[in-house]
Amino acid sequence: MSASPAIEAGTVSAREAAASVVDPEIRVITIDELGILRAVEEDSTTGRITVTITPTYTGCPAMDVIRADIRRALAVAGHLDAEVRTVYSPPWSTDWISEGGRAKLAAAGIAPPAAVPAAGVVPLTLAVRCPQCGSPETEQVSRFGSTACKALWRCRSCSEPFDHLKAL
Ligand SMILES: [Zn+2]
Repeated sequence: MSASPAIEAGTVSAREAAASVVDPEIRVITIDELGILRAVEEDSTTGRITVTITPTYTGCPAMDVIRADIRRALAVAGHLDAEVRTVYSPPWSTDWISEGGRAKLAAAGIAPPAAVPAAGVVPLTLAVRCPQCGSPETEQVSRFGSTACKALWRCRSCSEPFDHLKAL
C-alpha cells in the first residue's frame, strides 16, 4: 500500500493544499485558477496558517463551502491550525481567472467571461461565444443559470444552451 504523496501528511505545503481546492459550483476549476485564493501565510513561530480569499460575488453561498474545503485540505496536509480570512478589497474580478482556468472553463462548456475593460474605458459589447461550436451568434436566456453566479445563454447556431460566468 503506497499512499498518494498528495495526501501524505506534512508533505504538501499549505499553499499547495489550499490551491488544490476546487470551486464547489464550477467543479473543473480550482480556487487558485479562479483567482479567489489571495494569500497563504504561515506564522514561523506558531505554525499557524492564514489563508486569505476574496469572494467572487458578495453573498455567494459557495464561499462557506470553500472555507470548509480549505480547512479540510489543510488538515489533510497536516496543517491543523488554520484560519481562513475573507477580504473584499480589492474586489474580485473575472480578470483574475488564470489562462489555464479560462481554458478549463471553455472545455467544460462554460463560456469564459470577457476581460473587463480598465476604468475609464468605454466598454465594448463583446459577443459571448458558444463553447460548443464557437459561434458568436448567442443570446442570453436568463440572468440566472444553474447558480446565481452564472447566466444561462443559448447558441443560435447550434441551439445548445450553456452557462456563462458573469463578468464583473
Ligand atoms: Zn453553438
